[in-house]
Amino acid sequence: MKIVVLKFGGTSVGSIDRIKKVAKIISNHIKTKKKIIVVSSAMAGVTNDLISKTKNISSNFAPSEYDVLVSAGEQISCALISGRLNHIGIKSRSWLSWQVPIFTEGEHKKSRIINVFKNRILKYLKSGGVPIITGFQGVNNKNRLTTLERGGSDASAIMISKYFKAEKCIIYTDVEGVFSTDPNFIKNAKKIKKISYEEMLEMSSLGAKVMQPASIQDARLNRVNINVKSSFIDKPGTLITKRKNISKDRIITGVSFTKNDSKITLVGVVDRPGVAASIFEPLSKNSINVDMVVQNISSDGKETDLTFTIKNEDVFKTEKLIMKNKKINFKSILIKKNVSKVSIIGVGMITTPGVTYRMFKALAKNKINIQVISTSEIKISVLINKKNIKKAVNALHKEFNLDK
Ligand code: ADP
Ligand code: ASP
Ligand code: MG
Repeated sequence: MKIVVLKFGGTSVGSIDRIKKVAKIISNHIKTKKKIIVVSSAMAGVTNDLISKTKNISSNFAPSEYDVLVSAGEQISCALISGRLNHIGIKSRSWLSWQVPIFTEGEHKKSRIINVFKNRILKYLKSGGVPIITGFQGVNNKNRLTTLERGGSDASAIMISKYFKAEKCIIYTDVEGVFSTDPNFIKNAKKIKKISYEEMLEMSSLGAKVMQPASIQDARLNRVNINVKSSFIDKPGTLITKRKNISKDRIITGVSFTKNDSKITLVGVVDRPGVAASIFEPLSKNSINVDMVVQNISSDGKETDLTFTIKNEDVFKTEKLIMKNKKINFKSILIKKNVSKVSIIGVGMITTPGVTYRMFKALAKNKINIQVISTSEIKISVLINKKNIKKAVNALHKEFNLDK
């Protein structure tokens, strides 16, 4: 049985008109005689709205109930899609994650799929039906509903593709594919024909919302090729695949950026072995993700300034944890919310010297001050003032000829 998995994102199913278009796309795929499995996200805005309701009810809303509520958006869109397919004469029904079932492990709000039970869906496919499966949700070993982190319908589609050994996994979204940078932010962004899992993982982890980072990890581990394309216009999109399938003529593949980082500096920290661990231990215990870190030793070696970045939403909690941490002594704490991390990503930088220098030079030419730097084998990130994001991304885009 040749199976194709089609995933539709929030904007693609964002209105009744859009759902009618989606039904048309599905019916075109049915004509190819392949068996079609559809995975849908919630209609645009619905998940955000449900999340804000939890906040209005309680600042301590139980994660297990959060998952029940927030996964409800997918139930609505799947029923609407099947309803429309039925309307145009196609046999279809919605499948909620627990009906498949799709099993997950890990904490609520950030679970991961560990198994997809195939028999019921296979039987339904053989009967000529088109299953419309809820993305983003699963069920755990306590028989509770779970969700897969924001953007998690991508992971649902990829894991369903893996378990059904799908010939293709197509992620339909509101842009034509993966671009060198966010095409809704930088007008010279260029569509990328093929990108490696490694680069896509870095791009999305560093801010490119087009694919969920965890879903790319799943795709890489399971060697699932992904086609990303638009549900609005029928044009070739982007193939996310293994590095070997890609010619190596690019130094930099893309530029990503974040808009919701904060920088915290502890000034005059009394320096002793283990001090950094003492600072970060309570943060890690409270699931606060610390990103970039720099430590400056003062001239007498007794005191140090320690700077790190976290997400804006964690600032309040972080400040509280630091202020009540008896294991550390420092003079003052500085918090800046107006920072942004801009990163260049590309496997080509492994073999090309001088990339760091070119990045810094391009930013300097535009009078953009670098506050913190971090690098890995295939990416260089800098922290800058948020007001300079556009200038920085444009400068880097130009420096590495990404608009060509
Ligand atoms: P969906 O609802 O289909 O899952 P998302 O909103 O999650 O769609 O992701 C698509 C959005 O990702 C685009 O509208 C675009 O603004 C944003 N984006 C950010 N970086 C990139 C990039 N490098 N390439 C393409 N899109 C990007
Ligand atoms: N509806 C979920 C979200 O908004 C999942 C997804 O869109 O992939 O995060
Ligand atoms: Mg998405």
